[in-house]
Amino acid sequence: MSCRQQLVILGATGSIGLSTLDVVARNQEQFAVFALAAGNNSELMAQLCIAHQPRFAVMADDSAAAKLSQHLSGSGCKTVIRSGIAAMSELAAHPDVDAVMSAIVGAAGLIPTLSAVEAGKKVLLANKESLVMSGQLFIDKVKQHKATLLPIDSEHNAIFQCLPSALQGSKTNAQLHEHGVSKILLTGSGGPFLTCDIASLKDVTVAQAVAHPNWSMGQKISVDSATMMNKGLEFIEAKWLFNCQANDIEVVIHPQSIIHSMVQYQDGSVLAQMGNPDMRTPIAHALAYPQRIDAGVTPLDFSQLADFTFTKPDFARYPNLQLAIAACNAGQGATTTVNAANEIAVQAFLQGQIGFTDIYRINAQTLDTTVDVNVHTLDEILECDRLARLQATQLIAKVVR
Ligand code: NAD
Ligand code: MG
Repeated sequence: MSCRQQLVILGATGSIGLSTLDVVARNQEQFAVFALAAGNNSELMAQLCIAHQPRFAVMADDSAAAKLSQHLSGSGCKTVIRSGIAAMSELAAHPDVDAVMSAIVGAAGLIPTLSAVEAGKKVLLANKESLVMSGQLFIDKVKQHKATLLPIDSEHNAIFQCLPSALQGSKTNAQLHEHGVSKILLTGSGGPFLTCDIASLKDVTVAQAVAHPNWSMGQKISVDSATMMNKGLEFIEAKWLFNCQANDIEVVIHPQSIIHSMVQYQDGSVLAQMGNPDMRTPIAHALAYPQRIDAGVTPLDFSQLADFTFTKPDFARYPNLQLAIAACNAGQGATTTVNAANEIAVQAFLQGQIGFTDIYRINAQTLDTTVDVNVHTLDEILECDRLARLQATQLIAKVVR
């Protein structure tokens, strides 16, 4: 019997999923793929099944699962094919599974990720939207079920690495300042529109918005990086992961994306985690934690680094960042709402229905017009998410008309 860690990868066909499989393939003596899950890219899933021979593969629906089955017929691949969120949740909680990579994009990742948490798994969290959406509930479940939560988002992984070990892993209720931390410095590149004329933002195309200068990522997070809503979601994510308040976190623009975030201590020390912008570093860190493994990442060569610059974000350029920070201060109803509205608005932008600057208008108006209800239980969270999506969709219909 091997004692390899058995992994479930939710969102296997995406940018994070493929990077995870790359790290796994480099470290096969330590990791085995138990199950892969994805939306509807059956052809790519078939290739992944042939390459990695998982015990299970799950597609979002029956039609994608049927296509996967066709692609695999005659291949000799013994992977059992299933479909739907319930199957993903069941496999994420399977007794043979050690760790679950949560890398589905958007709110669709919430239920299978919570399932892994409730089964006390090691949960590698890339899907920031699930934590933004459910906040306290998510963290309470991590503690209640003694799950291990490790951040994959490069900034949060960097912060995790720079924190004292007593604060790593969401298992403690300790406050940052009790361990000498004075501030979390959350860095962001500023995306592709850092220096363009603000007046020109209303005309940017989808191709321009998804062309991130430093990172290669899925479409939704690429647009979020261009609006800096990504940094706003990360701000909320940091609040939950590191048990801190909004005024403990400062956003710093660092266009080179070499420093992935920093932790400032009361004695004046600042610890930074650095590396080339390649998600295989945080993925390998979390997979092997507390060990270190090869990630296939090109080592940083300081003789090749030209500038290292830092500025404050300009909220006139990035109103979505300001909106998300305000939502973070307002509470769970607001963060669930802004996350849901943003998913709908970004999708409408990607489909050419609204302009780039309309994303902020839809998000802000949805937040303004959604009644502030109590949002604590999973049912309340899902209802808040549903209402915000409905409201954002109606607002978009007005823009389109
Ligand atoms: P992506 O678009 O490349 O991949 C998304 C994955 O989710 C795909 O495998 C897709 O099939 C799957 N998926 C979509 N809807 C689904 C559904 N209903 N059911 C099951 N699977 C579904 O996105 P990505 O860039 O890999 O990002 C994934 C997550 O990781 C996001 O939450 C993102 O914010 C986060 N993240 C990504 C990066 C990055 O560098 N790409 C960095 C930090 C955080
Ligand atoms: Mg990030």
